[in-house]
Amino acid sequence: MRPLSSRLEALQESSTMAVANRVRELAAQGRDIVGLQTGDPDFITPAHIIEAGHRALLAGDTHYPPARGTKALLEAIAAKLERENDVRVKPTQIIATPGGKWAIYLALAALLEPGDEVILPEPAWVSYRPMIASFGGRTAGVPTSSSDGYVLTADALRAALTPRTKALLVNSPSNPHGHVFTRAEFDAIAEFVLANDLWLISDEIYERITFDGRQHLSFAADARVADRTILVNGFSKTYAMTGWRLGYLAAPPPVVDLALRLQSQAVTSASTVAMAAGVAALSGPQDCVAEMVAAYDDRRRYFVGALRDIGLPCPDVEGAFYVFTPTPREWPGGSDAFARELLDVAGVATVPGGAFGPAGEGHVRATLATSMAELERAAERIRAFVRQRVGSPA
Ligand code: PMP
Ligand code: GLU
Repeated sequence: MRPLSSRLEALQESSTMAVANRVRELAAQGRDIVGLQTGDPDFITPAHIIEAGHRALLAGDTHYPPARGTKALLEAIAAKLERENDVRVKPTQIIATPGGKWAIYLALAALLEPGDEVILPEPAWVSYRPMIASFGGRTAGVPTSSSDGYVLTADALRAALTPRTKALLVNSPSNPHGHVFTRAEFDAIAEFVLANDLWLISDEIYERITFDGRQHLSFAADARVADRTILVNGFSKTYAMTGWRLGYLAAPPPVVDLALRLQSQAVTSASTVAMAAGVAALSGPQDCVAEMVAAYDDRRRYFVGALRDIGLPCPDVEGAFYVFTPTPREWPGGSDAFARELLDVAGVATVPGGAFGPAGEGHVRATLATSMAELERAAERIRAFVRQRVGSPA
């Protein structure tokens, strides 16, 4: 046989998806697993959103939509961006995508030539590096640390700059650690991007999930960088719509033009049913969002406290719905081994920190997008597991 694509041979399966598959296998063997691996809300999509999709299908909305997305959804997104984010874009600057993930892929496709570099503050979500690599790009990881709250500084950004730097990719609130950029960080990032003539990809998928009164800020609303920012967002997290596969990007016209060419050739569009539901999500009542965020807030307080009680020095969670906790230092084999043994021995599934880049080593990520009862079961199991292996916490 002739060889397959070397570029795809170099690509690994998504680590979050890989752990999820392992959990399915173990569950099929009859193991009782507490699954804290995936950022998939335990909530079902709010009923009024499901009904809107249902109604659209029954009304015969089952045909190909425009590649860019339905007029109704693009207008609803433009209105939402203005209302909530102070971002003013025309519907023609938006593309509705099958998932936020594909919006990021389109953004990178539109920007990158082989050899181009993307600066990425890390720890960062598992799929950014592989996506950048799939275009022949290079990731310049900027390590940030839990010891100083994952704050990103201008100096750290400057140290990652090379003549091949094309873009900076940021994600606030962050998956995995939840840090929400402060105004000072936001300003430092905007100045850095402007001063070095870079593109900025801003993944804002967790924007609505912030705690203790923290406010999300959108770069596309800032006059310094609005014309060089690609805003990415989606419906999966805010509206518990992971399975619908719906996201979007908003970007300057030349970027949208290229991204739309790829979307129309590769996937045509997001699905009509998801887009009809998306209109209801953005235009309908928002108390469902507040209720889910309040639940994540309760859970993070409980789970961070429980982990600290066990002896794991888990930092506060500022936003998104994960805890990213340091693992015991003395653990043989590091955090990979910790996560593997925690799953195999104690039946608790987490994602090892190294999946989020070198700066994530020594940590594991657990999702809060599961019920309090499951978090309580997880805490009990983790306590017994750590006690048995390293003795009582100091
Ligand atoms: N960005 C981040 C940071 C995420 O955690 C996710 C979750 N998978 C996505 C983008 C993409 O989500 P989706 O494709 O479900 O919209
Ligand atoms: N973003 C979620 C996570 O990090 C969903 C899985 C994925 O797409 O990676 O768990």
